[in-house]
Amino acid sequence: MRKRDWTIEDAALGVIGTLREHGHQALWAGGCVRDMLLGHPPHDIDVATDAPPPVICRLFPKTRKVGVQFGVVLVRQGPHWIETATFRADLDYRDGRRPEQVVFTTAEQDARRRDFTINGLFYDPVDKRVIDYVDGRRDIEAGVVRAIGDPDARFAEDHLRMLRAVRFASRFGFSIDPVTASAICRLAERIRRISPERVREELEKMLVRCSRGRSLRLIAEVGLLPHLWPGSDWSSDRLDEVVRTLDALPEDADFVLSLAALLHQESHGKTEAVAQALRCSNDQIEDVAWLVANRRRVADAEAMDSASFKKLAAHRRFFALLALHRAACEARHEPLTANEAARRRLEAIPPGQIAPPPLATGQDLIDLGLEPGPRFKAILDQLYDAQLNGLISDRVQALAHLGGIVRPDSGR
Ligand code: ATP
Ligand code: MG
Repeated sequence: MRKRDWTIEDAALGVIGTLREHGHQALWAGGCVRDMLLGHPPHDIDVATDAPPPVICRLFPKTRKVGVQFGVVLVRQGPHWIETATFRADLDYRDGRRPEQVVFTTAEQDARRRDFTINGLFYDPVDKRVIDYVDGRRDIEAGVVRAIGDPDARFAEDHLRMLRAVRFASRFGFSIDPVTASAICRLAERIRRISPERVREELEKMLVRCSRGRSLRLIAEVGLLPHLWPGSDWSSDRLDEVVRTLDALPEDADFVLSLAALLHQESHGKTEAVAQALRCSNDQIEDVAWLVANRRRVADAEAMDSASFKKLAAHRRFFALLALHRAACEARHEPLTANEAARRRLEAIPPGQIAPPPLATGQDLIDLGLEPGPRFKAILDQLYDAQLNGLISDRVQALAHLGGIVRPDSGR
């Protein structure tokens, strides 16, 4: 087989084979074993080994140290990079975040430092055998997310695990074990100590899946929701409606659309503030706020003049806007007639006419003797509206129209 045809499994088997030839233990670990037992093809395979990082680096020609302090090395095999981590225990959690120190240890200890039993499994791909120190297989079969060890202690060590529990439960349709869930309820407020970037990353992973509605419901049930961003206030009616809205989104809705659906009853300003607080990118902040601010305009789309409709439809997020409006209508059991009319109106416009290049520019205004200044934009906007409304369709008409705006008396 040519190296570039290697699947991720072939690559991970290659890493395991080399480590074992040199007398080391090497296993698949964590999420990939869980996914395999659930019948999902793994999207990445992590290898865990007793070989320390310098040995891993010596055994393979191409490696990259990613978390040396955590003993993690990326190993290149064919077209893949396989994350290869030395069995470790995490020490010295400070303030509920990442461990300050690790020690290299046994496979069993490495299983016990992991967050949930379903994530604590190893697999020997050569003997095709699952190695289970934490009763993870039982919980996968029962559909339960359960902290490994004492849940209070585990969530106190790393508060982000509370959101991870929700993420895994909603993604797989699992329940959270009652003892684990009640520990989250007790400690939920501590999620505020986690950096907003990491909270956003977890939220994003939940919102991009079709289980997004279930995620929000669970986030609320375990008491995390009021602590995810400043001013996160939810009545139970509002929560119900937002869950229904999330459930009504297209399955493949992206993070921006889902976040807009999550916040869609907020004002434009509040939406922007939340997206900022979650450290979204500038484009994401702008788009989420645009979606929320313009959602209701879809209802008027049929009655708008051509220029207003085309300017709305020209936005890069217009299809997301239609999807958001549709989902919000479905969630409120409102008719979809306006949404469908907007879609039909869009389809009736030839693509080149939605955002055609303007027929005149600032240079034309200068040629007409106007000083560049704040009036320029207003005049050009007015002209562009006339163009979008079909009142002018070529440059001669545009220049005549401009003359009329710039020198309103010229016709007399
Ligand atoms: P996904 O499919 O979302 O990537 P995953 O289980 O692979 O799921 P990762 O975040 O990639 O999740 O982490 C890989 C493994 O590392 C987990 O399965 C778990 O065993 C362990 N792990 C990750 N984060 C933590 C944490 N905060 N606390 C303890 N163990 C963790
Ligand atoms: Mg993973």
